[in-house]
Amino acid sequence: MSGGALVHADVLATMDDASTEIRDAALIWRDGVIVACGTSTDLAPLLAGIDAIDASGCVVTPGLVNTHHHLYQSLTRAVPGCQDTSLFGWLKTLYPIWARYTPDDVFAATRLGLAELALSGCTLSSDHLYLFPNGVRLEDTIAAAQDIGIRFHPTRGAMSVGESLGGLPPDSLVEAEDAILGDMIRVIDAFHDPADGAMVRVGVAPCSPFSVSRELMRDAALLARDKGVMMHTHLAEDADDVRYSLEKFGCRPGEYAQDLGWTGPDVWHAHCVQLDTAEIALFARTGTGVAHCPCSNCRLGSGIAPVRAMLDAGVPLGLGVDGSASSDSGNLLAEARQALLLQRVQGGAAALSAREALRMATRGGADILGRPDCGRIEPGKRADFAVWPVNDVASSGSWDALAALVLAPPRGPRDVFVEGQAVVRDGDLVRTRRADVISGAQAALVRLMA
Ligand SMILES: [Zn+2]
Repeated sequence: MSGGALVHADVLATMDDASTEIRDAALIWRDGVIVACGTSTDLAPLLAGIDAIDASGCVVTPGLVNTHHHLYQSLTRAVPGCQDTSLFGWLKTLYPIWARYTPDDVFAATRLGLAELALSGCTLSSDHLYLFPNGVRLEDTIAAAQDIGIRFHPTRGAMSVGESLGGLPPDSLVEAEDAILGDMIRVIDAFHDPADGAMVRVGVAPCSPFSVSRELMRDAALLARDKGVMMHTHLAEDADDVRYSLEKFGCRPGEYAQDLGWTGPDVWHAHCVQLDTAEIALFARTGTGVAHCPCSNCRLGSGIAPVRAMLDAGVPLGLGVDGSASSDSGNLLAEARQALLLQRVQGGAAALSAREALRMATRGGADILGRPDCGRIEPGKRADFAVWPVNDVASSGSWDALAALVLAPPRGPRDVFVEGQAVVRDGDLVRTRRADVISGAQAALVRLMA
């Protein structure tokens, strides 16, 4: 049995059904699960004999949940030639660089991206790996997640329609569809854990409607439902994306998704910037999730996702940092803040509150990843949480320290726990040396740039 406790948190946001916030809070966990949560006074009898962490001067939240990423892109940040282009032009510049990746490069990039996420308070991240050049395999990313200690939902992505067939990627980066489906089965059988508290769950994720066939979209959905795993792809990211759908498929992206089995509570789509009213109603009715990635949407000029309308309609929403080639960083508090600012630019000051943004970044994300055992601090849920110091120069003076996590520019957490185990303590990685993560990434970068 292993366990621990923390006491005297200034405020603890549970993200339970009632959005309970506890002052002078304490938390006790055992074997990866939260066993008690309440005021330090109320929990005092249970705390006797436990060497509890002092969280005074800190806010505690559930660990942040990242619902969209391409971790391999962590080695292609700020690449010249695609700093000022929109989605399709940006992709065409990057594809030849990504075609040079080896398994070592994918491991180094993934470990870098996951270290960045852990150091900014994330405890559960999905990943969308959709290119497998030079022997790259999904397990190269799973090994990186185990190094950092983060809960990980890799998805086996794919591209199958290259330039010669009217798709966007070069033919050298696409795979045969039977090989894709075969490898999806292999990685699900080898790595997917359906149990409560799972550290690794695998999903299937054809890259996008403009890089795979209708048949692969349909077959991947059938496979996912047969195996009981989640499904993920990009949808309606920008105007070009919608135009491609209308020209090639004769319908809007929502109808395309619906026709091929890509709606339901076991599906979440990245971006959905261009969903119309009927598509929002479809997603709400079917419980189809959306990963909102506001920094990437701004960087690529994709537009403002209809977040307020989706929340009001009841669409399940989480936040994603997206790949570091289109957001240049992986920080979920930055995404929460950007989500709030972007909705307010369009809809006024009441369009999205700091607490709504934080809920999307925690419980909302866990729910669309099919993890109701994560994303909230309640007895019986997994012990995944972040401890944010709020007594430094940039934070002191806040009347509402929880809201300030989103209203102010993001700061790093002091401690991050996953499954009751420390992943970050005193602002540094616990399992792996920060210097090794950086030097591994630098060595891979040198190879890629040569
Ligand atoms: Zn993406």
